Amino acid sequence: MKAELTCEKCRQTIVQATAKYTRGLCIRCYRLAKTGRKTIQLECKGCCRKYILGVDAVVTTPEETISKVGAWLGGGPTAGLYPDVVGPAERPGHLNDEQIAKDQEAIRVVQEAMKSGTSRKWRCFKCGRVQEYSADTL
Ligand SMILES: [Zn+2]
Ligand SMILES: [Zn+2]
Repeated sequence: MKAELTCEKCRQTIVQATAKYTRGLCIRCYRLAKTGRKTIQLECKGCCRKYILGVDAVVTTPEETISKVGAWLGGGPTAGLYPDVVGPAERPGHLNDEQIAKDQEAIRVVQEAMKSGTSRKWRCFKCGRVQEYSADTL
C-alpha cells in the first residue's frame, strides 16, 4: 500500500521512499532544516507562482536598496511604503551564497515585522502583483 505523503513545508508530494520521510518533510526540506536555514513559502495571488524564500527565490528589500551599509531597518519608515520584490532564482532552485545571505536577512526582517504586527508587502517579479505577507506563510 502506498500512502500519498505531502511535505509539511513545501507541500510537494513526497515521492521518495518512506525511509527518507523524516518528520513530515521531503528530503530537500529536511536537508534544509538541518542547515538551519529559514524559509518562507509564498504563493502569488495574481499568477499563482510559488516561491520559497531561502530556497528558490531572490528577494530585494527596500531597506537594502536605500541603505547598503549599516543596520537593517526592520519595520522602519520604509516598511509598508515599498514592497519587497520577490523573483525566481536565476538557476532554478539554486541560490549563490550572497543570495542566500540576502534571503536570510529578508526573512528575519519579514518575521520581525509580522511579530510586531507591522504590515509588510511583497511584489511578484513575474506579474507585478503587490500583496501582504500572511501569517500562514511562516
Ligand atoms: Zn518539502
Ligand atoms: Zn505573480
